Amino acid sequence: MPYSRSQGLRLRFGLEGTRTPVESLDLASLGRALVVLAHTDDEINTIGLLSRLSAAGVAVDLIVLTDGAANKSTDETVVGARSHFECRRDELHAAMKELSITDAVLPALPDGKLGAHLDAATTVVSVELARRSPGLVITFDPRGLNGHPDHIAANVVTRRALATATRAPALAMISPPPPFSWALGSGFRSPTPPTIATLTLTSDERERKARVFEGYRSQWKTLRLMTAGLPPRAFFRLFPAEWYVWLRADAAREWARP
Ligand SMILES: [Zn+2]
Repeated sequence: MPYSRSQGLRLRFGLEGTRTPVESLDLASLGRALVVLAHTDDEINTIGLLSRLSAAGVAVDLIVLTDGAANKSTDETVVGARSHFECRRDELHAAMKELSITDAVLPALPDGKLGAHLDAATTVVSVELARRSPGLVITFDPRGLNGHPDHIAANVVTRRALATATRAPALAMISPPPPFSWALGSGFRSPTPPTIATLTLTSDERERKARVFEGYRSQWKTLRLMTAGLPPRAFFRLFPAEWYVWLRADAAREWARP
């Protein structure tokens, strides 16, 4: 389908698409949300939205596709006698308590190689879409937020699963807000300019985000790279925005079935 060649650049600089505060969306009507991520700790990127959904009474289910075992910077002193997967699963369970999420599906596909397991991952997402019938799916944008191949694969997998889903949910794709978008872009292209749902973290949400960040003790080395060495509370105070390429159900279906 045709789209403007300048769309990527225009999205990158926040010039295209209708920016809509998350507050103006009827979150309660979504009923149930399904989050599709690649790694435990990826949910840090969407804690503002997860908090708003929870406050609106929306039940949130989570799929984390990989076992998270490939990160060479994982702190072995934190892992101890556990496997990397077991350690990160324990850290995820603590984060889920913080976020009022009761259920996570963890197929433990190979970290760093999700792109080689797209069929298996798509099956996992398809099964959960059919089982839970969410009104909203949350995943990474087509560029994987920061270009991580597993994040990009999570987007591909979600798109494939949505293409064959019986019910079409709305879709929120985690996208870098400015100034990060200037360098990263979202990789999203469509014939019609998308809605960009914007959210500014409240002080409670910043605190929750910092607590979840700190809970991933095995991943501190990597996480601190993402905050350029800043402590999380300082970083989230400086950069309190979350942006989502937000497609309502009909637009999400159209995007998934080009
Ligand atoms: Zn990740």
